[in-house]
Amino acid sequence: MGTFDRLKNRIGLVPNPVSAQTKQVHARIRGASASVSVCPYCAVGCSQIVYTKNGKIIDIEGNYESPISGGTLCPKGAATFGLLHSPLRETKVKYRAPYSDRWEEKPLAWAMERVAQLVKQTRDANYEETNEQGMTVNRTTAIGHMGGATLDNEENYLIKKLWTGGLGIVAVENQARI
Ligand code: SF4
Repeated sequence: MGTFDRLKNRIGLVPNPVSAQTKQVHARIRGASASVSVCPYCAVGCSQIVYTKNGKIIDIEGNYESPISGGTLCPKGAATFGLLHSPLRETKVKYRAPYSDRWEEKPLAWAMERVAQLVKQTRDANYEETNEQGMTVNRTTAIGHMGGATLDNEENYLIKKLWTGGLGIVAVENQARI
């Protein structure tokens, strides 16, 4: 009998001290398909692994093989799965009328039309083709745009293209730049 077996006998270890319930426990990604992807949020380009089962995303994690991020994600990238599936996520348009003290739910089409009308009206009333020195500027400084952290790279590209090149809006920002 070896030293380990003698030790086991002395302290009364059972051969396999694992309950049937524990044997059933496994990682939530077991059996899932893993696809390598890139975090959509900023220019760092951290790599993510997206796990899917039965056509549904069940988890998103950092990719240890990434030479950029080595498996890490910042809080925003780490919350990508939560953004997709959180029950707290707002999915309806909320509108607060001028001077009102409450939010109302509105249809998306109504909100899109209202934004479009107000942008057109404000731009028409404030568009400048030249500045005081006579230089061509083709701009409006009466509208600003602030992007949010959950806009992805493609959305930011289109926003910038439409607002600046298309409509001449100067103040276009995003709080999530790097
Ligand atoms: S948002 Fe965060 S996780 Fe995503 S690419 Fe940028 S730094 Fe990486």
